[in-house]
Amino acid sequence: MSDTMAEREANTEELKQRVYLGLREDNLDPRDVVALACELLDWFHYTDAILEVVERNPADVSPTEMAALARRILDDVGFDPGFDLAPERLATLRAALRIVARDLATRGIEGEPEIEVLEDWFPVGAGVRLADGGRLNWGGCILPGMCDDPTTALASLAVMIQESLLEWTWRVWPVCPRHDLGVHGSEHDGTAVWWCAGDGGHVLAPVGELSRVLGSRRK
Ligand SMILES: [Zn+2]
Repeated sequence: MSDTMAEREANTEELKQRVYLGLREDNLDPRDVVALACELLDWFHYTDAILEVVERNPADVSPTEMAALARRILDDVGFDPGFDLAPERLATLRAALRIVARDLATRGIEGEPEIEVLEDWFPVGAGVRLADGGRLNWGGCILPGMCDDPTTALASLAVMIQESLLEWTWRVWPVCPRHDLGVHGSEHDGTAVWWCAGDGGHVLAPVGELSRVLGSRRK
């Protein structure tokens, strides 16, 4: 048995991870779900899903129901698997970076940038390292939860890169040539785009296709 608060907290965290991995790998152990629900009750979490797991006889709960309850419990407590337990998020982010990297040519930035996991940040996030070693996490970092969806990952990365470049160099990029306004990375109709606020708003270009509008610029 664990006695100290820190040990109990570590134990609860480990149970959350086991339940997450059980759901992910389709080998959820109902005893882990019950143990987690009991721990969470002790931490004064009283959600419907937690109470249901504690009150029902596990033998009467079908695997599908148990999986649904486990998912709700993880949601209720805001569990995030980070990059470690959900490594596909980094793959999504790296694919997004290859797309944004095409736009960096319009800013005179050459070479292949890389994703860098910022292990010493809390929560752990990801930043971008340019081919010349420059680091683009001045505008914050990319959180693992932003990388479940490719479009969100791409838009978030575009925003982080442009804000970092602005903080770093005090130069607005990209700029809409028609309105002479700075445009912003955003999600629009399910696509990551550079959005200009001029004339009621319009898409300057999808992220990754800026050079078609602005042309590449040599240093
Ligand atoms: Zn415009």
